[in-house]
Amino acid sequence: MAESHDVVIIGGGPGGYAAALYGGAAGLSIGMVERDRVGGTCLHRGCIPAKELLETAHVYRTVGNAGSFGISASEPTIDFATAQVRKQKVVDSVTKGLTGVLKARKVVTYAGTGTYKGNGTVHVEGNDGSNTELNADAVILASGSVVRTLPGFDIDGRWVLASDEVLAMEDLPTSAAVIGGGAIGCEFASMLADLGVQVTVLEFLPKILPGLDADVAAAVQRSFRRRDIDVRTGVKVTGHSPGRKTTKVHIEGGDDVEVERIVVSVGRTPLSSSLGLDGTGVEVDERGFVKVDATCRTTVDGVWAIGDLVATPQLAHVGFAEAIVAIQDILGEDPVPVQYDRVPWCIYCRPEVAFAGHSEESAREAGYDVVVSTHHFRANSRAQIIDDVEGLVKIIAAKGKDGQAGQILGVHMVGPWVTEQLSAGYLAVNWEASVDEVAQFIQPHPTLSELFGESVLALTGRGLHG
Ligand code: FAD
Repeated sequence: MAESHDVVIIGGGPGGYAAALYGGAAGLSIGMVERDRVGGTCLHRGCIPAKELLETAHVYRTVGNAGSFGISASEPTIDFATAQVRKQKVVDSVTKGLTGVLKARKVVTYAGTGTYKGNGTVHVEGNDGSNTELNADAVILASGSVVRTLPGFDIDGRWVLASDEVLAMEDLPTSAAVIGGGAIGCEFASMLADLGVQVTVLEFLPKILPGLDADVAAAVQRSFRRRDIDVRTGVKVTGHSPGRKTTKVHIEGGDDVEVERIVVSVGRTPLSSSLGLDGTGVEVDERGFVKVDATCRTTVDGVWAIGDLVATPQLAHVGFAEAIVAIQDILGEDPVPVQYDRVPWCIYCRPEVAFAGHSEESAREAGYDVVVSTHHFRANSRAQIIDDVEGLVKIIAAKGKDGQAGQILGVHMVGPWVTEQLSAGYLAVNWEASVDEVAQFIQPHPTLSELFGESVLALTGRGLHG
């Protein structure tokens, strides 16, 4: 069987489905090949289930703290199997919504594995055993990524879990070692600790959350330590030895850590191997990422690649942005390439982290003379009202010739609901706005976002509260 579309997309995750929706909205006929459920890692094994379980931890904590508001509730307990049911309900509901909107855009979804055959042809080996040839003017590769692990830590689902297994756990261990103190590792560490698990974070680099502004990373580390999360940095794990109920994680030159579960969180590998690219001319780098230019074109005319499959930040919203760039390019429009050094980043651990643009360190390294404004949530009325005063907002601006703060280069936040507050800072950074321009905008009172306004205003030399 052979069918034709304007665009055929391999992979129905955030990159693939965003390309399908955007292309469909532009009137293109779209075929999308997905071997699992539409929604990809993000919807089924990543962003959505992870944030849903983090919310479970938040509710647990809030109930535990109700007494300080004069509300008596008995000591909360957690039934993780019920939490899993709720998580799945959210995932299913979002999947249903996505399926409906794909249908409304007349996207034809093929359930099977797609391989690129060259000359605008994609072969689909259907999940039902069928074989279909799809022909298209344009092909978008969006097969995403899979978890990776370290030697000595095979993911067996019993002792060693990766994100897929953590998000599917039916019950909680009493102790866990999280290997890797990056964004996902810190989210898991925070969630597990808040649910009563004794957590040890083992990070090879000198600090957790490498690449973050140092003040922000330090605030997270302080919070973790206050909550008895044992954060060990600069450690190399070499393997583990299971016993009857626990396993010992071996650390080079250091003490073993004995835990019930090991959570490996050391990054993800692009899934180019599923696409049959050998001999097609689509080039892949030594790590498996498909090579692309600024408009997501691969080394073969008529083939684009987006999302976790390419060597750009592995974030769902970066996949969305690349999907739009690729479709605009296919339409012959003049897309604005994604500015990867200014994308928004959010980490949903407690305290939350959100930032866009230069950190203080990276701005200095890039040669800027900078001025910095830092304000703490403990001085913010809304933060006191919600009883969540941990964290800060930090604005990094370029110092002008007159010595005054000029362009806003970076906005870095750590604290309550900062993932919902970043958008103003993101706009400021990406609009290349100056401190004077942003300082005149009003932040509603009382809100957490006042701290952003206050931090910018302070850079004019005339802050209101600090
Ligand atoms: P994927 O989502 O991996 O989708 C690729 C799809 O292609 C899959 O459905 C797969 O089945 C399909 N596929 C692969 N090969 C073939 C083939 N040959 N034929 C047919 N189908 C194929 N990002 C954020 O922005 N915010 C977050 O909070 C966040 N949290 C995360 C938490 C966790 C625990 C994890 C693991 C990831 C998180 N991410 C987050 C990252 C985010 O999930 C990914 O960046 C995003 O899913 C990448 O989208 P994608 O479309 O490129 O790939």
